[in-house]
Amino acid sequence: MNVTAAHARAVPAGRIAYVNGRYMPHADAVVHVEDRGLQFADSIYEVCAVLDGRLMDEEGHLDRLERSLAALSIAMPMGRAALRFVMRETIRKNRLKDAMLYLQVTRGAHKRDHPMPALHKSTLIMTVRHVNVGAVEKRRAQGIAIVTSPDMRWGRCDIKTTGLLANVLAKTEARKAGAFEAWLIDRDGFVTEGASTNAWIVTGEGVLVTRNLSQNILAGVTRLGVLQALAGEGFNAVEERAFTVAEAKAAREAFVTSASGGVLPVVSIDGRPIADGTPGATTRRIHALYAEFARAAAQSA
Ligand code: PLP
Repeated sequence: MNVTAAHARAVPAGRIAYVNGRYMPHADAVVHVEDRGLQFADSIYEVCAVLDGRLMDEEGHLDRLERSLAALSIAMPMGRAALRFVMRETIRKNRLKDAMLYLQVTRGAHKRDHPMPALHKSTLIMTVRHVNVGAVEKRRAQGIAIVTSPDMRWGRCDIKTTGLLANVLAKTEARKAGAFEAWLIDRDGFVTEGASTNAWIVTGEGVLVTRNLSQNILAGVTRLGVLQALAGEGFNAVEERAFTVAEAKAAREAFVTSASGGVLPVVSIDGRPIADGTPGATTRRIHALYAEFARAAAQSA
């Protein structure tokens, strides 16, 4: 069922989904039982923040979507301009000013068989969920706790697939331990990234360190925005390299970045406070610079 204007008003804000060309209430939104996204996680996703009715880092998310799809030879479901239009329509129909837009592209429905089909028609899904900005700001003011967890993911973490079980397990263990995020640790004792964030530290010498891009981490769009915002300010005490858990625990400050939280200070790792256990001044400054940079580039939704 496609949503008419009158019908859309009867559906609560944030409960309209887009599925393959149609907008409908969540309760009616379905994909085929043999969709390869469902059966094999043969599927890519993106999450974009909408703040005060403006889409943040839109081009970065679309660039990464195209890169991820190309890496798996999944066809873009439509051209980029059309996709931008559907994103805005989905946001508008959901009547939300502060939200997260979720977008997923799968290889579509096929008879279940592991090899990729020779031809396919991608499935495109979008949903929009309200974000409580006050709760995010409270988290930013208080800082978050981290626990560390072995990185059990596959070898192509640079592709943003919906195959997220290892991330889900790590995040669940973190929440059970009273922490907000898990930092994933590789076999050599280095932090790769968070379960759904990129990881950063500020060393005792004031150098900002975050893991270099490779197939072992996701190239965060917020990570890139922070690096660009800092470069614009002439801040060049930045090292893109691996750091150990021990180095992180001894750091002056630590923080995570993601589209959903922006820059969030880390105040403890595995129950041990970072410095005095409160959000650091450098982290607060980086948040302010990034927020200003991203708002200036943001486009109306
Ligand atoms: N790393 C992982 C594994 C993620 O899932 C995410 C976001 O979902 C990030 C990093 C942060 O990426 P972005 O800043 O693009 O949200």
